[in-house]
Amino acid sequence: MSKGTQALIQCPHCLSASEYNCWVSANVTVSPHLRQEVLSESLFWKECKNCHEGFNVNHDLLYHDMEKQFCVWLKYENAAGEIEFEPGAERAGQVFNGYWLRIVFDREELIEKIKIDRDGYDDIFIETIKLFHSLKNEIDLATPFYYDRTTQRKTRKTLVFLSEPKEAESVEHTLDLNGVKGVVDSYVPQISAALESDWPPWMSVTRREILLAMERCGLASRIGSVEREEGPSAELIEKAEILVTMATSIAIASLTSAEQNLELPETITEDVENWNFFVTVAGVFAALYTLGKKVSDRIFETVGITVFENLADWNPQGSGAFADCQQFVENSLNSARDEQIELTAADAIGMWLLCNLYGRFPSPEESAAARPLGGFLLDTFAEWWVEGN
Ligand SMILES: [Zn+2]
Repeated sequence: MSKGTQALIQCPHCLSASEYNCWVSANVTVSPHLRQEVLSESLFWKECKNCHEGFNVNHDLLYHDMEKQFCVWLKYENAAGEIEFEPGAERAGQVFNGYWLRIVFDREELIEKIKIDRDGYDDIFIETIKLFHSLKNEIDLATPFYYDRTTQRKTRKTLVFLSEPKEAESVEHTLDLNGVKGVVDSYVPQISAALESDWPPWMSVTRREILLAMERCGLASRIGSVEREEGPSAELIEKAEILVTMATSIAIASLTSAEQNLELPETITEDVENWNFFVTVAGVFAALYTLGKKVSDRIFETVGITVFENLADWNPQGSGAFADCQQFVENSLNSARDEQIELTAADAIGMWLLCNLYGRFPSPEESAAARPLGGFLLDTFAEWWVEGN
């Protein structure tokens, strides 16, 4: 049930005091409109009965979602600067058995919890991401920094956070969901177990509490390495998103230049469709090959997933051909090493390309084109990953 109470409140504009109805508890399962009123903060907004100016009232509110088994208690300090609990609050765990019980100390935090729950996340997971990101970017743990929403681009989800949401200098921070999941997920169970509360069973889950929990369970020393493990940058993901498109246009453009510089016979350049397909795949492979030499395995994996999704969208045979190219290059390099033959990645990529363009193994004369062809793709994409390019 939702409950209101009459409270005597002073208008900050004209200083006259009047009685206003304030919600004490909001059951959003019974009264769904209250969820929207909390999110828009209109639930806390009063119009002065004397001067008609509007103002927000900071009052306690128990937000209760029966359907999702989720309670957040917004509590403000009393005149003595203390958080005072209603009798029986400590037994809430029995009343709300199995519930997610949270305590927050301002409206923004309450709104954030509702958004986290709305989007199907766990707040320990989100606060851990916020903590790592804050430490990495030197964002003070005491300054406002809130989860706002998740945006979807094709199959990838991006988490959007806002720092200083009310200020003019409010900044959006975006993080790739899968990238951060890879970093944070393994820590969440230990952090959850190590969280402590001054108001049991009500838990305060903030960046600071997460940091304390990590110190308690001996994970704090890992934070430095966690920072370095953070997922790929948004720029890298963006480049991964357009890699296949980029490789296709390079394939098309290189048809003329390859003919001129490499003197490739017409037999392999006249089938434009064939050329575009195999040069695109070899280009994508060359791009990932150069990236693999520059970034951590974790980042490489995340970028790779994005690229493969796009490859599959582009052509149903795309991923299969990529795997074939990868296998061919690996085998060639391995056997060359065993036989102590000098062979570069450019040779192997170019050779795979020639085999597929000819539809057979090329003759020794024809094979001469392999190195410049593979080298051209490796050079093109090595440049491409450089930040800011
Ligand atoms: Zn007034």
